[in-house]
Amino acid sequence: MRATLPGLIGRRIALSSRGARRRLIRVAGAALAVILVAGCGTRAPVAPGGSAAPSPAQDAVVVVATTTVFADLVRQAGGTAVRVTSLVRAGGDPHTYEPTPSDVRSLAGADLVVMNGLGVDDWLKPLLAEAKRPVSALVELGPDQPGVTYLAGVGGTGSVNPHLWLNVAYAELYVKRIVAALQAAAPAKQAVLQASGEAYLARLAALDTAIRARIATLPAANRKLVSYHDAFPYFAAAYGLTIVGTVVPAPGQDPSAGQVITLIREIRASGVKAIFSEAQFNPKVEQQLAAEAGVTMVSNLYNDALGLPPVDTYEGMMRWNADRVFEALR
Ligand SMILES: [Zn+2]
Repeated sequence: MRATLPGLIGRRIALSSRGARRRLIRVAGAALAVILVAGCGTRAPVAPGGSAAPSPAQDAVVVVATTTVFADLVRQAGGTAVRVTSLVRAGGDPHTYEPTPSDVRSLAGADLVVMNGLGVDDWLKPLLAEAKRPVSALVELGPDQPGVTYLAGVGGTGSVNPHLWLNVAYAELYVKRIVAALQAAAPAKQAVLQASGEAYLARLAALDTAIRARIATLPAANRKLVSYHDAFPYFAAAYGLTIVGTVVPAPGQDPSAGQVITLIREIRASGVKAIFSEAQFNPKVEQQLAAEAGVTMVSNLYNDALGLPPVDTYEGMMRWNADRVFEALR
């Protein structure tokens, strides 16, 4: 049965309690965490390429990252020279994350703390002082990256879109900054970190080329998409796609009835073939929106958090997203 527009807006209001949605996300996150833990009990984590991930060295640099995405960049770049954890779990949303006392305890034991900055995980900064970690232990990956064309965030007023890492070439800049910080924190491991960092950068360069080549085979008129939140402008700019619109102004903020109507109009006018939902959000709203606009809904893209294999690494996530986009738009 086709969803009616009043029905859609009515259900948005029903879903619009921020607390209720957070509880829903927490429950989903907790369920995923249980699955992940259960999975770990039966087999070793598998690194890209199929080899079992080696254990950290006894004297590994202890790193705490805000999200699973940045934790994986650190793990892949640092190899056995790092021991890394993430504050936001797989499947979680960093934009609306509420830190816990155990986060402060994790930070207190960290040699290095890795965040994106630019608004996506700025809740970390007050925790650093609470954990009595010096500012020198903090690595911010997003700001002041040479060679980056920064794009405006939603709502203008000078804000910058923080999701640089969804352009693989920009993720390579993140990795270079991570390797430099690890080398400064562990001078005795400079050579081994150089080698592991360079090997990872070579894989990322190949991944960047592969995604660009794949998307380039799509008909030019089809290279358009609608996403749930404003996570993909760097991905789109890098790989030749156009973002027609986003469903929510920001995670945790619901669109107004007027914004929903405008988006449906834009979807119809642009001829966009698909709306993409994101794994950390409830896809129900987008299912209704896609039905209303008469286009396909594709679940699930990943952007701010990793998930279960094969999207348990940054490389796996980017391959997964490129495949989903390719399949839906070809
Ligand atoms: Zn985001």
